[in-house]
Amino acid sequence: QELIQKLEKTIENIPDFPIPGIQFKDISPIFLNPKLYEEVIEDLVAFSKGKVDAVCGIESRGYLFGIAIAVALEVPFILIRKKGKLPPPVISEKYDLEYGSAEIETREGQIQKGQRILIHDDLLATGGTTEAAAKLVEKQGAKVCQFSFLIGLRGLKGDERLKKFNAGIYHILEY
Ligand code: 5GP
Repeated sequence: QELIQKLEKTIENIPDFPIPGIQFKDISPIFLNPKLYEEVIEDLVAFSKGKVDAVCGIESRGYLFGIAIAVALEVPFILIRKKGKLPPPVISEKYDLEYGSAEIETREGQIQKGQRILIHDDLLATGGTTEAAAKLVEKQGAKVCQFSFLIGLRGLKGDERLKKFNAGIYHILEY
């Protein structure tokens, strides 16, 4: 409860960024406050402790917390990146955007068959990116057991889109 209030005071709302009509949540002020950052990590670690064998972080804000979560859980961290950033061999997953499509990748062989995976990102909006990440994980024979975020945006139905994976979904705060 206290953590939620601290984050609400810290996260900045930027209207009309990156395009008109979008209320952008800027998480960067969290990193000005190392104690608060620690509390965020503790909270996210508590959700996943003992429940996952590896953490997948989504480029790029998913790395800022995901790697600290993985280190605290003493499990591997795997980068999910946009197409063309990781050296071959890679496994890819295409997904649709509002206009056009995008593709995400992991290094082949970093996710092990049968692993229980946490997918982490800073923010859940429509769930499109996270859904593609989960498909990418599951086509490598691993199981997505949990999704965690700092922020969930209400009204965009991201949670509904992730339901089919039968995984736990957690966000610290909601807008
Ligand atoms: P989705 O695919 O769920 O629609 O979008 C989520 C992705 O967009 C996440 O990777 C997230 O980092 C980014 N994103 C969308 N809106 C915001 C925002 O307001 N603030 C931040 N920090 N990231 C956002």
